[in-house]
Amino acid sequence: MQAAGAGNSLPSNGLKDPVLTADAIKEEARRLGFDGCGISRAEALPEDALRLRSWLDHGYHAGMAYMERQPEKRIDPNLLFEGARSVISVLLNYRPPKMQTDPEAPVLAKYAYGKDYHVVVREKLNRLLKKISSGIAPVRGRAFVDTAPLLEKAWAARAGLGWIGKNTCLISPGKGSFCFIGTLLIDIPLQYDRPIADRCGDCTLCIDACPAKAIVAPRTLDAGRCISYWTIENKAAIGEAFRNRLGNRVFGCDICQDVCPWNRSVAPHHEKDFAPPPGLLEMTRADWFSLNEEQYGRIFQNSAVKRIGFEGLKRNLECIAG
Ligand code: SF4
Ligand code: SF4
Repeated sequence: MQAAGAGNSLPSNGLKDPVLTADAIKEEARRLGFDGCGISRAEALPEDALRLRSWLDHGYHAGMAYMERQPEKRIDPNLLFEGARSVISVLLNYRPPKMQTDPEAPVLAKYAYGKDYHVVVREKLNRLLKKISSGIAPVRGRAFVDTAPLLEKAWAARAGLGWIGKNTCLISPGKGSFCFIGTLLIDIPLQYDRPIADRCGDCTLCIDACPAKAIVAPRTLDAGRCISYWTIENKAAIGEAFRNRLGNRVFGCDICQDVCPWNRSVAPHHEKDFAPPPGLLEMTRADWFSLNEEQYGRIFQNSAVKRIGFEGLKRNLECIAG
């Protein structure tokens, strides 16, 4: 463990003071560029387990069979990282300062404008873990970014970073929902944050605005109807009946977040890795429909759009055109 002041301004308080340690971790998260950091006790989540079971039983996970695997791991962090005592949740704002310029162009979800968030958030989280273990407390830990079976939104809500809105997104006061969530499990106890109250009230803007009627009840998403699922997760052809609902969405969908009042007046991100590649936002409708594989590889080489490959993007474009 690095001593305080030895090239690091963090207090070296070992395991003695969970409050000071938690404060130091949050300060370091801020320094690394995270827009929020909250901490909760690592324990099983029985209520979330019931909600997950009911969601799966309704078949709302559509073709995402992996959601059915190891559901116990999703609700108990100790099964993902033995000895986990604390769950550190972080937020990273990705609200872009500029949008696509051609109103007729196929619409890309905002989260896919820049470098793949799995890479960006994971790198930052691993740096946070290193900073903690070298300058704050001798911990072991493991970072997760939307890849392992972990209920990241539920953990972030427990850590007081926001509440789960009726659109199923974590909504953070002052930061909205255009935020990536990262999670770090570590093996020491800390001071834990308290959840905050739900502030959706009687608003139903997201439910009313969804063109696919995919929010079947407040906080319940039928992925089998959701444009994000059909344009990203689904690998098969897009059914005739669904094509009409796609509108102009080529990869993902932000509609239920765009209409949310908590996303108004939120400052854009300051993360250089989320800057779009040159020319992406200026692509016209014609540019999109004439995109070849070489251009696709160049423009999206670091993007989450790579997940669906050139063929997947072409499939989505064809649906839009149809
Ligand atoms: S992402 Fe789009 S399709 Fe999915 S629930 Fe939100 S508005 Fe509906
Ligand atoms: S649009 Fe309204 S109901 Fe939906 S998440 Fe936002 S505040 Fe909640």
